[in-house]
Amino acid sequence: MRKSARVVVIGGGIAGCSTLYHLTEEGWTDVMLIERDELTSGTTWHSAAQVTNFGMNQTMVGLKSHSIALYKKLSEDMDYPINYHYADGGIRLANSEEVMEGYRHFASMAKGMGVNFEVIDAEECKRRHPLISTDQLLGGLWDPLDGDIDPAQLCQALVRVARKNGAEVIRHNPVIALTQHKDHSWTVHSENGDIDAEIVVNAGGYRVNEIGAMMGVCHPVISMEHQYFLTEPIDQIIQAGHRMPLIRCPISDFYCRQEKQGLLIGFYEQDCRTWGMNGIDPNFTNALCPDDPDRVIDVLEGAFMRMPAIADTGIHTIINGPITYSYDGAPLVGPIPGKRNAFCIIGLRAGLGEGGGHGWLLAQQIVHGEACYDTWPLDPRRFGDYATVEATALKSIEEYQNEFRFHFPHEHRPAARFARTTPLTSILEKEGAVFAPVDGWERIDFVKPAPDFTETHSYRFNESFSVIGGEVKAIASGVGLTEVNGFCRYEITGQDVHDWLDQLSCTRIKNHPGRVRLAYFLNHHGNVKSEATIATLADGRVWYGAAAAADRHDWDWLTQHLPTDREITIKRLTDDWCILVLAGPQARDVLMAVSRYDWSDDAFPWLSIRQTHIGIAEAIVMRVSYSGELAYELHIPMPQLMAAYQALTKAGTTFGMCLFGMRAVESMRLEKGYLHWKSDLITEFNPFETGLHRFVHDKPAFVGKEALMAMQKKGLRKTLVCLDIHATDAPSHGGASVWHEGDVVGTVTSASYGYRVRKNLAYAFIKPEYANHGTEVYVDVLGVSQKAVIVPMGQI
Ligand SMILES: Cc1cc2nc3c(=O)[nH]c(=O)nc-3n(C[C@H](O)[C@H](O)[C@H](O)COP(=O)(O)OP(=O)(O)OC[C@H]3O[C@@H](n4cnc5c(N)ncnc54)[C@H](O)[C@@H]3O)c2cc1C
Repeated sequence: MRKSARVVVIGGGIAGCSTLYHLTEEGWTDVMLIERDELTSGTTWHSAAQVTNFGMNQTMVGLKSHSIALYKKLSEDMDYPINYHYADGGIRLANSEEVMEGYRHFASMAKGMGVNFEVIDAEECKRRHPLISTDQLLGGLWDPLDGDIDPAQLCQALVRVARKNGAEVIRHNPVIALTQHKDHSWTVHSENGDIDAEIVVNAGGYRVNEIGAMMGVCHPVISMEHQYFLTEPIDQIIQAGHRMPLIRCPISDFYCRQEKQGLLIGFYEQDCRTWGMNGIDPNFTNALCPDDPDRVIDVLEGAFMRMPAIADTGIHTIINGPITYSYDGAPLVGPIPGKRNAFCIIGLRAGLGEGGGHGWLLAQQIVHGEACYDTWPLDPRRFGDYATVEATALKSIEEYQNEFRFHFPHEHRPAARFARTTPLTSILEKEGAVFAPVDGWERIDFVKPAPDFTETHSYRFNESFSVIGGEVKAIASGVGLTEVNGFCRYEITGQDVHDWLDQLSCTRIKNHPGRVRLAYFLNHHGNVKSEATIATLADGRVWYGAAAAADRHDWDWLTQHLPTDREITIKRLTDDWCILVLAGPQARDVLMAVSRYDWSDDAFPWLSIRQTHIGIAEAIVMRVSYSGELAYELHIPMPQLMAAYQALTKAGTTFGMCLFGMRAVESMRLEKGYLHWKSDLITEFNPFETGLHRFVHDKPAFVGKEALMAMQKKGLRKTLVCLDIHATDAPSHGGASVWHEGDVVGTVTSASYGYRVRKNLAYAFIKPEYANHGTEVYVDVLGVSQKAVIVPMGQI
């Protein structure tokens, strides 16, 4: 066994094997995998191992395409063939028009990644899968490349190539402790001895938190028990003369695929069970949980109804094993928050299908700092401390119970809510606020017009359309108030704070106490990494503000770039302060009524900051606006939030002040030309492509400058544009394809109706040759090709 390696991957399931393989493919061959037992002895060996191309966003679709292409390539290696049932095809069923519309959107989104899904009716489902009943079936989504693979053979094949490339694999050697050194390198303590490593990767499957504990981290991942049955041969399958496609059924919560001449049927029962919450037996290896067929009887009945042939078929094997789930159901693949030189590839609930792609994206992040796709949907930093074990268990149960039921736009499920609240949460709720969680905080989405108001989850405009329109109108004609909780905020202090930030940002950051500005940060590849407001409160004292979700992400980036030769201190204030936003032409009048200072345009112009009071509450007021209306951000210490709110609501009565939510803000910011982090601002594009020319300043140096300049010479890959879509019944949705003369030329990033401009707006990255104002393109809106015109961004 080597005594040192550049990377040590802990765990030899699909996650670890794929990571090892891809590290060597990226050219890093001084790498090692350590497995406590045999390879695949965790969950991987007993996986149903279905390999679908379906994903909820383009990153997922792209990484699954990579898995499929890789598995096909490996399976065709004559020296080590793998049983891979490639392209049997698969159908996701639907019994409602709303679900069919979702499928149409996903098909359009996948098209942009070169993947051809088809939305088919019930009869066509039956033609392709003769065993199913069309009773109460509307149709489904056809995935032509769906299939299944032998999991053990796959892992052996990956490891075989990795070994040939120089990697070392050590089996029967549990990692028992991890020590991190001052230079951020690690010593991996294993039963067979210590290994020095620059980087460690947690690929520990259901033992994720045993390895996490070794580095002082609790990951928001837990395990659920999950069962499938294997049936005796079925005559209809034998007689069909072709392999049966796979089925995933959100109506009755089961999946099934052909296994030999019978079926493998898996279940997502409502009466589901977490596993290993109180610790895992060290001898649980190559092991299963006890069979528990009674638990899935409710689902089984639905499966019998959909596939009557199963009812007459014997079951010869039951497999019940632990499967990991994360807080939001998506894996955590990337840097471990708050740690240096530590990565994870964990929480894989469909790891066989996805593992090839996850290992690929992780290896790119380790080697190059960033992957070819924006990996935010997988980034472990998308959760903070609020994602406790208890909360993760509740979310995992909810995810498991809804395995094939995708989230509709603006659907926020009830488990583990109110994880982070402010003194106003219950008051706002009484005022009718409907909340949407943002990084664990409950933020106002919109305000109900009546206590019994509910909205139908849909991809179309629904009951809330006019409610949000009413909020926008009230703001645009008077004044509105909202709470922006959880806004990521750090206080950065030190004499050279501006110089330091200036070197990090492509935007010039000058030292003007009392002024706030918007700045952009690039990664080392010259692409857009972060967006922040830089508020200079005093010489050497800056408030850095960013999207709530960016908290751990930006913290890591900033702290990793702290200078060693100068004293710069960063303190997190996210939980200590909260923002109330006053917006609308009468915002100033309300402000004047609650604060005795001069708030006139001359005394407090655009981008000013003032430390003041709102009523009796301490406040830092910034004159910035995300809505295009006159607006003030009132930053209030959390304990005084109530006092500020009361003063504002009392003063606001005179002006008919309304409460408003994020959906109104989303509409207004799209009209105004403001961008949203991780929708429009992604690591796949540079600031010129993102339309941020005015924020890239001519400076001798900044992070990403060289790469950006090199890219600039090559021209734009895509351009972010604003589209006016000629559809009246539905907005577009992120991921939808933009077409020109039969070719996909772009992808929608975000969309909303613009109530002030009365246009159905969307932003999209499209090929630069179609980016001129007035160019006509077509956008998929729920499967219908709708005409759209490129219009200037920020029409208000
Ligand atoms: C019944 C069932 C059906 C499934 N069906 C599908 C499906 O159809 N399609 C699909 O894509 N996915 C499916 N899955 C999920 C899939 O199997 C998992 O996502 C995948 O196997 C997880 O792989 P992993 O590498 O993350 O974890 P594991 O396979 O559990 O591997 C982790 C490895 O880490 C090792 N390890 C842990 N701690 C240490 C330590 N301290 N030192 C050294 N090594 C350590 C373990 O021994 C283990 O080998 C299914 C799962 C179940 C339970």
